[in-house]
Amino acid sequence: MNGFSWPGGARAVVCVTIHMDGPAVEAGLGLAPLGINSCGRYSARRGVPRYLDMLARHGIPATFFMCGYDAELYPELMREVHAAGHEIAAHGYQHEGWDPGDGEPALLEKTHNILADVVGEAPVGWCSPSGRKSFRTLPTLKRLGYRYDASEKDDDLPYLATIDGQVQDDFVILPNNTVSLDDVPLYRQGQALPSEVLQSFLDELEVLRQGDGYIHLAVHPKASWGSGVPARARVVDRFLEEAARHPDIRFVTLRDLADHCLASPGSWREPRQ
Ligand SMILES: [Zn+2]
Repeated sequence: MNGFSWPGGARAVVCVTIHMDGPAVEAGLGLAPLGINSCGRYSARRGVPRYLDMLARHGIPATFFMCGYDAELYPELMREVHAAGHEIAAHGYQHEGWDPGDGEPALLEKTHNILADVVGEAPVGWCSPSGRKSFRTLPTLKRLGYRYDASEKDDDLPYLATIDGQVQDDFVILPNNTVSLDDVPLYRQGQALPSEVLQSFLDELEVLRQGDGYIHLAVHPKASWGSGVPARARVVDRFLEEAARHPDIRFVTLRDLADHCLASPGSWREPRQ
């Protein structure tokens, strides 16, 4: 039995995160969005609508990580996601998987403003595209009013952020493992079958539900290396079905989890470096 207190007194939380990774990814790499490089467009045409239907069927709120460039291309889709009750969070302008150097703060602010303008609500969460961060990242996000970062791979549980040497009481790190609960490394590097990915997700669900109770799933609704296509989307559908069978599990957005963690840090863990 853990000693943690999750929202609503739940034994475990499941945070479903959808990383749209639309044409912003290919644009950021300087690729024409044609042929093999058109798979980001699949997210907008098929993937995101498919996941909206699935989440509505299950009655589950999710966090959608969006690039600023994709929000410019598909403002109506962004508003549809937001109107369905899901969280819109930031994921770079053109999915910068590299260090933009001194230009990083301006780039973070640009995406922040685009998302806020398009959906009418400012994002409070960020996940690094490709996991890259610099010493400029967190101070900039904090200045813009963010409350969480979902990029770290260094813990099984949330923890309070340290910025400029100070443990923060208004900014939390919500780690994701980006291995066994993330579709991309399984399909792309691991060349896994959908049945193997489902098994990986279910293995984590079982052990984490009985352990610390923090389950952070990352899926990408694009074609190619994501889970947009029907057989791969069905893996996520089955995972949600299995998780929902447990009445002691609660589905929460990362924003809601961050707010819970920040409201009473002492109830779920000690601050650590
Ligand atoms: Zn991404």
